[in-house]
Amino acid sequence: MDKIILPPDAAFIIDRLRENGFEGHIVGGCVRDSIMGIKPHDYDITTSAKPEEVKKIFPHTFDTGIKHGTVTVVLNKQNYEVTTFRIDGEYEDCRHPKDVSFTRDIHEDLLRRDFTMNAIAYNPYDGYTDIFGGIDDIGRKIIRGVGDPDERFKEDALRILRAVRFSAQLGFEIEPETRRAMENNANLIKNISAERIREELTKLLISEHIEKLPLLWQSGLLENISQRLARSISGREDIIQNEIAQSEKIVPVLFAILTQFINTDDIKKELSLYKFDNKTLNQIICLNSLINRKVETDEISIRRLASQTGIENAFLFYSLKNAQGDYKAAEAKNMLNSAVKRGDCLFLKDMALSGKDLISLGIKPGREMGAVLNKLLEMVIDDPKLNTREILIKTVKENFIDNI
Ligand code: ATP
Ligand code: MG
Repeated sequence: MDKIILPPDAAFIIDRLRENGFEGHIVGGCVRDSIMGIKPHDYDITTSAKPEEVKKIFPHTFDTGIKHGTVTVVLNKQNYEVTTFRIDGEYEDCRHPKDVSFTRDIHEDLLRRDFTMNAIAYNPYDGYTDIFGGIDDIGRKIIRGVGDPDERFKEDALRILRAVRFSAQLGFEIEPETRRAMENNANLIKNISAERIREELTKLLISEHIEKLPLLWQSGLLENISQRLARSISGREDIIQNEIAQSEKIVPVLFAILTQFINTDDIKKELSLYKFDNKTLNQIICLNSLINRKVETDEISIRRLASQTGIENAFLFYSLKNAQGDYKAAEAKNMLNSAVKRGDCLFLKDMALSGKDLISLGIKPGREMGAVLNKLLEMVIDDPKLNTREILIKTVKENFIDNI
C-alpha cells in the first residue's frame, strides 16, 4: 500500500507528539478515504499522549471530550481532534461505554473501533497499523465488524445503521457474518437517540450508492426505527429507491420522498421521531401535503403555488416532482425563477398598496381589511400588470368601498 501524504498540519501534530516522546497516528475515516483515493474531509489523530500531555505540547487547544480523551488542537485556524488511545469499558444502554480508560498501546485503541476499514492507523514512521485486515477489506469493498460483530452491535447499536450508511456511501458489500449480526440486533436501534438516527439517515439518503438503500429495511432496522414508516414503504420499495436515486441531494426533498406514503394526519407524528429543526420539519410537512399534486406550467398556477407555499418550498416541490419523473417540473422551476427575477407580486408585502393606504381610503383595520387585501393579492397574482398603486386604488373604490 502506498504511503499517505499527510497535510502539513497533521504531519506537524504527529511530529510534535513524537518529539515529546509520544506516538501519533491519523486514524479512522481519513485513513480509509486516503486509501480509497478520496480526499478526507477531516483528519482525526490518535495518540499515546494523555489529554493533559497533549495540552502541554500545543499552545492552542480546547477541551472537546476530555472524559473520552479528546482534545481539539487549533492550528492555522483549523481544528484537529487529538484523542488518546482508549479502551472502552462495558457498554450501557446499547450506546455508551460506562467508563473509558487510556492506554499507550495503539492496538487496544483499534479494537474499540467499529469496522475494519475504520480501524487502520497511519503515520510516516510506523506506516500502516492494520491489525484486522482493513486494507484488504477496502480493496475488496467489504464492510466487516472488528472482532465479533454480534457483540459489537450489542455494545452500540448505532453501528448497525452506520454499516448501512457506509455501504451506501462507499458502495461496499457487508460481510455475511456482520450482516447476520445486523439483523439479529436490529431491534436495539430503539435505544439510539433521534438525533443520531436522523444524522445517519441523512447521510444515507444523500449517498452515492442508493442501490444499497434497501439494506435499511432488509436489515430490519427500518421497522425498529418506525413501524409506521416501514409499513408505508412496504410493497413500494422500488418507487422510493428510484425516486431517491433520481433526486437532487436536498435533505427535505429526500425525506419527503422517503415518507411520501404516510398520510397527512400521521406525518407530523412520524417526523417528530427524528427531531428535525423547525424549518426542515415544515418543509417536509409542506411537501407531504403536495405529494399528489401535479405540476402545472401556466404562469398563474406557478405564482399561485409559490404564493401559497413560499418561494423556497415551491422550488423544493419542483425538485421533488422532478425526482418523481414529472416531466413538467424542470420547466416550472425555470418559470418560477423568471417570476422571481421579474419581481412578480406573490405576497402581500410585494403589493403596490398597503393596509395604510386602505385606511386612508376609509377601510377599517381588521377582518374586512384582511379580506380586501387578499382579494387584491389574488388579483395581482393572476395578472401582475394590475400591481400598480393607481389600479389597486381604483379597484378598491369600485369594488369594496360601497360594500363596507
Ligand atoms: P465520516 O467520513 O462519516 O466522518 P468516519 O469513519 O470518520 O466517517 P466518524 O463518525 O467521524 O466516522 O468516526 C471516526 C472514527 O471513530 C471511525 O472511523 C471509527 O474508527 C470510530 N468510530 C466512530 N463511531 C464509532 C462507533 N459508534 N463505534 C466504534 N467506533 C466508532
Ligand atoms: Mg470522521
